[in-house]
Amino acid sequence: MNKELLLSNLRNIPDFPIPGIQFKDVTSLFKKAECLKELDDALYNLYKDCGITKVVGIESRGFVMGAALALRLNAGFVPIRKPGKLPAETISESYSKEYGTDTIEIHKDAIEENDVVLIHDDLLATGGTALAAYNLVQKLNPKKIMVSFIIELEGLKGREIFPKEADVKSLLSLDGE
Ligand code: AMP
Repeated sequence: MNKELLLSNLRNIPDFPIPGIQFKDVTSLFKKAECLKELDDALYNLYKDCGITKVVGIESRGFVMGAALALRLNAGFVPIRKPGKLPAETISESYSKEYGTDTIEIHKDAIEENDVVLIHDDLLATGGTALAAYNLVQKLNPKKIMVSFIIELEGLKGREIFPKEADVKSLLSLDGE
């Protein structure tokens, strides 16, 4: 993987959406064909031999590479969305954020017991969102769940809150918070 290409094209927006956050803007990678291809190949190479049958993308930046990867892997794609967005019967999971709580939902019939699932999002910060997604998918009892990110903010130690069997991987690790 050409890390230099990806890192040199990743835009950082200081103080977005609130003061103190260094926002890593993955749309600066998505818009450039060369970077999009690099992300697609890197994720495919990581997961091509894992027997994945469903890629679960977390709304909304997790949909982009999640859907692309599902196509490459001949797997299905499943969205995890904010409350009230999915039309059929859902199950939900709530989790604590710095201020208050958030909830995410998945269609109840999206995952079957013989599925091997890869959860995908753009970025791992504290891990709260992806762990809630992990717990949500776990309720549907698939054979295995793996978790992938484009970027990991290592300093926040988000990967430590996942159970050992979760197999968390990221393409780019950044020190920053
Ligand atoms: P967390 O639950 O703390 O791991 O936050 C992860 C979610 O928030 C992901 O969906 C990210 O898209 C978003 N996020 C959190 N921090 C950042 C950041 N510094 N730059 C870009 N996105 C972020």
